[in-house]
Amino acid sequence: MRIVSGMRPTGKLHLGHYFGVIKNWINLQDNNECFFFVADWHALTNKYKDTSDLKENIYDLVIDWISCGIDPSKATIFVQSAVKQHAELTLLLGMITPKSWLELNPSYKDLKFNLFFQYVRDFLLGKGIKIEEDTIRQIVHDSFYHKKEIDFEYLKESLIKLSVDENLSNEIVFNLKEGDIGKDIDTYGFFGYPVLMASDILIYKAQAVPVGEDQLPHIEITREIARRFNNLYKPVFVEPKALLTEASKLLGTDGRKMSKSYGNTIALSDDEEQVNKKVLSMKTDTQRVKKSIPGRPEVCNVFSYHKFFTDQETVKQIDLKCRNAEIGCIECKKILAENLNKFLLPIREKRKELEKDRQLLDKIIREGNEKAKEVASKTMEEVKEAMGLMF
Ligand code: SF4
Repeated sequence: MRIVSGMRPTGKLHLGHYFGVIKNWINLQDNNECFFFVADWHALTNKYKDTSDLKENIYDLVIDWISCGIDPSKATIFVQSAVKQHAELTLLLGMITPKSWLELNPSYKDLKFNLFFQYVRDFLLGKGIKIEEDTIRQIVHDSFYHKKEIDFEYLKESLIKLSVDENLSNEIVFNLKEGDIGKDIDTYGFFGYPVLMASDILIYKAQAVPVGEDQLPHIEITREIARRFNNLYKPVFVEPKALLTEASKLLGTDGRKMSKSYGNTIALSDDEEQVNKKVLSMKTDTQRVKKSIPGRPEVCNVFSYHKFFTDQETVKQIDLKCRNAEIGCIECKKILAENLNKFLLPIREKRKELEKDRQLLDKIIREGNEKAKEVASKTMEEVKEAMGLMF
């Protein structure tokens, strides 16, 4: 089966990426024809002002992939912007994609929601107003989604109900309405990125695309665009199916979703000392304030990490000892840090090798680009022939 998948080059990968995406790619590459690409054009759709780190981020991403076990002799690794046919197909598919399909794209609204939520949270924090993050998220969420348009009045009233001063509530709403927050994504490029995404997939006639549940609408729009093209001209494209990938169950070190914006990640490139420090700072069972109090592993984030990195027998013992107050949290964390470092060691070593060998990296990327171009240009010939663009 031919499979296409990409990642944006936005910095070094963390364990959440490993368990949410990379591990699945490693399994897929053995029995499928895989095309894994660095989605550098996609990175520009919402981060175009400062591109100074883009080149290094592209290298970092490829280094992370290979260090984890993505094998260039099994999968084609390439950089999207090196295969210009993606842009040509995006232009042509843009001609046949109704605007209304893009307006329904949930990512646009979701991204804006996140930006608004972060603004409200940081504004209140800056004023020394302590409100639970989940509560803020909820009121911003409700003001976003309970009507077609954002309900600013509802947001203001909700803030006042939470005892935020009326003037401050007005200021928040004014800044959200009139300020620059979220304006960065009010661009033609961001609005049209589902068409670019469709091109990335359709140009390789991929039969399947590994995606998380939140990305299913993108596959649906890709299928619709393919269907529309095939009906209008000739059956050139394959309608890809979604290979639903389970979201990573590994949370961030603070118990929330692992995300760079929360500062709760463990990067695949973190060294031993960084890992030890992060593990020691992890939250445990909040009721267990001293060793003599029996713990509850089922509510402890450290324990859920053990399930990923520690052998089953030791996990069983920790479970028992924790419940009987026979092991302290520091000792438990030290075991975890040791196992986590063991897991990361081969990735770190491979990383070091690759970091020193730019020539090898360039060769891998160049060869991948060529292989991708070969397939992409063949599809473009068919597309142009079907549309009568033969000059
Ligand atoms: S002993 Fe381990 S599992 Fe039990 S509460 Fe402490 S850190 Fe969590």
